[in-house]
Amino acid sequence: MRLDLKSINQCVRCGSCRTFCPVLEESGWESANARGRIMILKGLTCGLSPDSKVLESLNTCTTCGICTENCPAGINPPQMIESARRELVSMGVMTRQQEDLSRIIYASGNTFGETRDRLSWFSSDRSTTPKSADYVYFVGCMNSYRYPETAARTYSLLHRFKATLLPREVCCGSPLMRIGYNASRFVDENCRQISEIGASTVITGCAGCYTTLKNSYPKDFRVLSVPEFLAEHISELDLKKLDLTVTYHDPCHLGRHNRIFEQPRQVIEAICSLMEMKTNREAARCCGGGGGVRAGYRDLSLQMARRRLEDASDEVDYIVTSCPLCIRNLSDAGAGERVIDLVDLVTMALNDPKNAD
Ligand code: SF4
Ligand code: SF4
Repeated sequence: MRLDLKSINQCVRCGSCRTFCPVLEESGWESANARGRIMILKGLTCGLSPDSKVLESLNTCTTCGICTENCPAGINPPQMIESARRELVSMGVMTRQQEDLSRIIYASGNTFGETRDRLSWFSSDRSTTPKSADYVYFVGCMNSYRYPETAARTYSLLHRFKATLLPREVCCGSPLMRIGYNASRFVDENCRQISEIGASTVITGCAGCYTTLKNSYPKDFRVLSVPEFLAEHISELDLKKLDLTVTYHDPCHLGRHNRIFEQPRQVIEAICSLMEMKTNREAARCCGGGGGVRAGYRDLSLQMARRRLEDASDEVDYIVTSCPLCIRNLSDAGAGERVIDLVDLVTMALNDPKNAD
């Protein structure tokens, strides 16, 4: 098997990653930790057969990156694991869950197999969306189909700055890439539409879409997360102070992977009080939803989310985040409507919400 032997051999097996891996924390197995996964990669290069246990080890990594953050040898285990998943898929070795998810996305263009119009959340006349614009709001599968109110509120905010929508947005490709599949068809289709609109900046409210647009798409446009955009424009929004105390959950693909730590906090602090979670910023515990783990290993994923909720004080009114997958997982793990999007908080603070369009 073709794997990056240099990185594999760079692991000094110190076990520092054992202190941090959220999967190991739940399962207790070395094979669920970065070091164990790297030993399995080494085994694969020496002829180890990729059986179901090997696949379980590699596919339960949420790609949270906290091991990378704390690895004294400077290696990047989630990158190595993703590339092993790609290699295995190219050899036809995958789990049924990987096959099912990829089939759904290839067939429908979204992660849910939805056949509904992706823009059904958009209640206004579609002819009002500009055909050319500097800013495009990339909605993502999750907000399009599962959080339509968040999609509408985000568009409403961004449209104040003349942002438009892609007419036929498709999945950004992130779930396919995370589980080892090729997503070039989706990348090409979204890029074609962005270029037709002539946008210089694409803004998204999903951490998975953000890291994919920013790091796996051609560098033809600037990519901003909604927290970055809002922090840049906070003084132009007419916001009131709210008598609330909230906490902020750092989505791994916004925080550790792309260093977006301060912008969401700036927005929150312009509106209300912020009480940090027990682990935050670089050290934030993963919600357990990423890397295809929610799709493939739901119980494990929810166990991690329940653990993450223990990091939030009971005194806070809301757990605010900026990723619909984190919202879904934390919400399903018991937080319910106590977990909200940053955009929901900003909308509550608008002095003129009716004039948002
Ligand atoms: S912290 Fe890094 S070097 Fe140490 S065992 Fe984990 S992956 Fe290997
Ligand atoms: S990326 Fe996260 S889940 Fe994956 S091995 Fe590293 S710490 Fe564990």
